[in-house]
Amino acid sequence: MSQTKVLIIYTGGTIGMVEDATSGSLHPLDFNHLSTEVPELEKLPIDLDVTSISNPIDSSNVSPEVWLELVELIEKNYDAYHGFVILHGSDTMAYTSSALSFLLEHNQKPIIFTGSQLPIGKLRTDGKENLITAIEIAGDYEGGRPMVPEVAVYFEYALYRANRTKKISAEHFEAFQSPNYPLLAEAGVHIKYNRFAINNPSLDAPALFCRKSVCTDVASIKFFPGMRREVFHAVASLPNLKGLVIETFGSGNAPTELWLREELEELIKKDVVVVNITQCVSGKVIQEKYETGIHLERMGVIGGGNMTFEAAICKLMYLLACEELTTADVKSYLGQSIRGELS
Ligand code: ASP
Repeated sequence: MSQTKVLIIYTGGTIGMVEDATSGSLHPLDFNHLSTEVPELEKLPIDLDVTSISNPIDSSNVSPEVWLELVELIEKNYDAYHGFVILHGSDTMAYTSSALSFLLEHNQKPIIFTGSQLPIGKLRTDGKENLITAIEIAGDYEGGRPMVPEVAVYFEYALYRANRTKKISAEHFEAFQSPNYPLLAEAGVHIKYNRFAINNPSLDAPALFCRKSVCTDVASIKFFPGMRREVFHAVASLPNLKGLVIETFGSGNAPTELWLREELEELIKKDVVVVNITQCVSGKVIQEKYETGIHLERMGVIGGGNMTFEAAICKLMYLLACEELTTADVKSYLGQSIRGELS
């Protein structure tokens, strides 16, 4: 196959930040900075183009508007490129990449998110290796087919399925983990792909279909011993609430107190979709396992299996915006894997 083409999309984040000369704090820089800082990019056997979202940000400022701007950019450039690298701050990378995995239906191209813990201009930066390898992966084709036809996160020698990823360290270069799913690839001297773990779309899979909206009438509640009814109720009584992620204990267990049952039953009666995610980093929700879980199952709370919180909230926002789906459809899709996000 002739040389592949990759589009780099800059959204901001540490990788492209510079220090303010007076205060020393980091702020996003004009994207041109990146290309001058990494002359090595010229040596890659991949044709590169770069673009940027309209207003690069620290990723803690990310919003669904930015997700949808990325969707538009990918849709517009989908046929012209073999793959995409999205430079994004690590803080919310797991959310944006999870959201895109849902919004880009039938995606069959590599969409690789990366960033760094240190700005690319710093001597000990992790940004250069992350960027170069992410580009190599995005442009890696075999027999005319991409090696990674899915949305993924590349960070510190590891490639993860996007919607399985969590940021776990604000300090270490190894900032991400995918506790419930194997790595898609590891980069050493060579890039070793775990082919059994990578999505393998059929040759006659439908064309890309991009969703252009998400539902933000959602909320989450993290349980803790001693949580008062008023706390739960304040969230549960939000006007227009359509979806709620509850973060429970262990294998999806929550207090059996009457007030909680009343609150949840009321929500479900109002057609609010409630999905149950565990606070544990690994393992999954099995609501039938304990008395403290089965009451949730009987009320109609959806067990979220081993989805990350990031994947669960983004999936809920995506499904609730699909106008053709009934509440029963949304519940059914939430409990099953639609992009490899749960098992
Ligand atoms: N605060 C930065 C951001 O998420 C951190 C990073 O880039 O890793 O945009």
